[in-house]
Amino acid sequence: MTTAASTSAPSARPRIALVATGGTIAGAGTGGDATPSAAYQSAVVTADALVAGVPGLARLADLRAEQLFQIDSADFTDERLLQLARRVAALCAQPDFDGVVITHGTDTMEETAYFLHLTVPTDKPVVLTGAMRPGTALAADGPVNLLHAVAVAAHPSSAGRGVLVVMNEQIHSARDVAKVHAMRVDAFASPHGALGLVVEGTPRWYRGLTRPHTRTSEFDIAAIDTLPLVGVVASHGNMRRELYDAWASAGARAIVHVGFGGGTVPAYLQALLPELRDRGVQVVRAARVGDGPVIRNANYDDDAAGSVVVDDQNPQRARLLAALALTRTQDACEIQQVFWRY
Ligand code: ASP
Repeated sequence: MTTAASTSAPSARPRIALVATGGTIAGAGTGGDATPSAAYQSAVVTADALVAGVPGLARLADLRAEQLFQIDSADFTDERLLQLARRVAALCAQPDFDGVVITHGTDTMEETAYFLHLTVPTDKPVVLTGAMRPGTALAADGPVNLLHAVAVAAHPSSAGRGVLVVMNEQIHSARDVAKVHAMRVDAFASPHGALGLVVEGTPRWYRGLTRPHTRTSEFDIAAIDTLPLVGVVASHGNMRRELYDAWASAGARAIVHVGFGGGTVPAYLQALLPELRDRGVQVVRAARVGDGPVIRNANYDDDAAGSVVVDDQNPQRARLLAALALTRTQDACEIQQVFWRY
C-alpha cells in the first residue's frame, strides 16, 4: 500500500521515501492521560498520520509515505526482514528518491538496521528511527526523531555512510548501535561512539566507518531468497546441552553461543562445540557482556574446535551476519573472515 503524504508544490527539496513499519512511534496511549507509561498500544498510527503530525517535515523534504507493516518490532521475522530489505532496495534504485527513512519499533531496530546495512546496495542515505514514548505522551520523542531522521536522510553529507539510526539527536551506524535501556529516551548507544549529531537540524559528523556496507558489501538482497536458520543460546550458570541439540534438530546451520565474559565456554560444554561442527552446525562465539571483542583462541581453542568468533558484534547482529555468510559458504575459516571484515 502506498500513499502520497504531505507533499506540496514541486521544488528542489530532496525526495524522501518514508516506509512505516509500526512500533511505539506509531503508538497511542490507552491510559487516558499523557503521562509517559507502558499503557499504550504500539503500531496503530498510520504513516500518513505520523507525517501529518510533524508539520516541519514538508519544509525539509518532498516526502512519500507508505505503510509496509503495522507491527511491534518484536514481530519482525526473517521473512519480514527480507521483504523490507527488498522494498528499501527498490526505493533506493528509483532515481526519483534521494533517500529512505524507516519508522520502526525500537526493540529490534538494531537488527533491521544492520541487515539493511549489509544487503541494500546503495549510496543513498537509509535512516531508521523510532520512539521510546507513544505520540500521545507528554514530551513524546517520536516527532523530533522523525524530523531529525528526515533531515539526515535529506542531507547530501549522509550519502555513502551506510545505514543510520537517528534517535535522541544522535546519528549511529547500523554496524554498532544497540538499544541499551528499556525506558529512557537516550536508549541507544554505540560502543565506539555515535557517528554524529543532529545540530540545529543538520547532521554534523565526527566519525567514519572502516568496515564495508551497503554498496561495498558482498551481500545483496537481490541474491537472497531465504536466510539459513541460525540459533542463539545465552550463557548462564548450570547450562544444558539440550538447547544446542534442539537448534541442531530444528535445522540450524549455525548457533551463536553467547558466552560469559569474552565468550567463554564452560568446561562441561567444551566437547559439544566440535561435535556440533561435525554435525554440520557452525558454532559462533559471542559474548554476553555487550561490549568488547571475543578473542580467537584466547579462552577456548577455536582452531581445534572449528569455531568462529564474532569480533565485537553483539549476538543479535552476529546471528544475521552468520546467516548471510552461510548464504555464501559452509567453511568455518571463510565465515571467520567474514566476521573479521564486517
Ligand atoms: N515494543 C516496541 C517495538 O519495538 C517498542 C518501541 O518501539 O519502542 O515495536
